[in-house]
Amino acid sequence: MVKIAEDVARGVAAAGRRLTTRAEVGSVAMVTTSMREITLVAPAFAGWRCEPGQSVRVALGRLGVDRQRTYSIWRHEPGSPYLVLRVHLGADGPGRRWAEGLAPGDTVFVRGPRGRFSLDPRARWHLFAGEETGAVPLLAMRGALPPGTVAHGVLEAAGPADRVPAVDGRAELPWVYRDGAGAAASPVLLAAVCDLRLPTEPGTAYLAGERDTCLALRRHLVVDRGWPRRSVRVSVHWAPGKRGLE
Ligand SMILES: Cc1cc2nc3c(=O)[nH]c(=O)nc-3n(C[C@H](O)[C@H](O)[C@H](O)COP(=O)(O)OP(=O)(O)OC[C@H]3O[C@@H](n4cnc5c(N)ncnc54)[C@H](O)[C@@H]3O)c2cc1C
Repeated sequence: MVKIAEDVARGVAAAGRRLTTRAEVGSVAMVTTSMREITLVAPAFAGWRCEPGQSVRVALGRLGVDRQRTYSIWRHEPGSPYLVLRVHLGADGPGRRWAEGLAPGDTVFVRGPRGRFSLDPRARWHLFAGEETGAVPLLAMRGALPPGTVAHGVLEAAGPADRVPAVDGRAELPWVYRDGAGAAASPVLLAAVCDLRLPTEPGTAYLAGERDTCLALRRHLVVDRGWPRRSVRVSVHWAPGKRGLE
């Protein structure tokens, strides 16, 4: 059993930032051919209250020295010392190298939970769309809906082996595939959302993943389908040529 240490890291307070939790890597596993699931363990996580869709900031190495990246929370139960992330290995950057290099027992510094990307409690119904990185918060949110809630959507992956598994026992969303094309400004996902047969009254849409695809999807909902802009919630995860979106 790994020794679990909780730490309020020095230097972070001085920087006027939020508390940082020191966690240990409990386990790592490939959940698709291109996605690594990382289970972090820390006593402090037991006190966290996470909304599905929220994320954490992760220091990619020594705190205060190395870069940081943001990852959506795949799973966390109130009172549990476990926090699960899913990292897509699609980029060639420090986040990918960090995720690939992690091993059980490694130390990881995280801050969170953070972010306003979450389910709309007043939604008439829900629409989810995104690529592999977006599938992490979107499937966590989809999995948190009470049974019987009306939900539509479509997710995109490079191919069938890259489909992100849904929350255990909860409904899947349909997938479409890029088949060798890039995920930026993806015409595949846009076409799939355009083809969806949706209720006539707008619901609340959740779009997550690559920036240009998210913006094209929002444009379609607002311009072509006449949705109010406030009914479309967007979480941009990455953009071509940008590093970490900071
Ligand atoms: C709110 C939020 C939540 C996020 N949640 C998740 C999550 O749950 N899982 C997850 O995997 N990522 C998530 N991300 C993205 C994550 O923070 C990193 O941006 C990503 O892991 C790439 O980091 P990197 O350092 O490897 O590459 P970077 O140095 O950031 O980028 C290097 C290059 O790769 C490109 N690139 C970045 N990502 C991809 C990709 N997926 N496919 C193809 N090219 C890419 C960039 O455009 C850039 O040109 C989230 C980001 C945000 C802001």
